[in-house]
Amino acid sequence: MVHESAKHALAQRRKYAAWLDADDAVVAANAMLLIVGRALNMLKSQIEAQGKSFEETGGFHERLTAKRLEAREKDQPPAPECPSCGKPMRRRNSAKGPFWGCSGFPECKGSRPMGGGRDGRDGPY
Ligand SMILES: [Zn+2]
Repeated sequence: MVHESAKHALAQRRKYAAWLDADDAVVAANAMLLIVGRALNMLKSQIEAQGKSFEETGGFHERLTAKRLEAREKDQPPAPECPSCGKPMRRRNSAKGPFWGCSGFPECKGSRPMGGGRDGRDGPY
């Protein structure tokens, strides 16, 4: 089985055969330069298409990280609400250990200790 790109290369070889096989070395060299120029244009188009795809869907590592974060989020107990403003809280870390901090930080300084409660929510505040 011949790959599509190999078929394309063979078709190009046939297309430029008259010049590539010319007795005049300058004609053959010009044909090669022309083919190289066409290959560079194809590469440029591919790189532009990849850049566009990257803009729209992100890179491989970015998509892997998103998957991991999504999975990690599912493992977490549901976040409690902020005792000061009612917004959902986020898991934060400090030198003293993890705690719940308000997602409205820095406007809201609400916090809760990581709970001793059954789901991590009902700690002794
Ligand atoms: Zn708050």
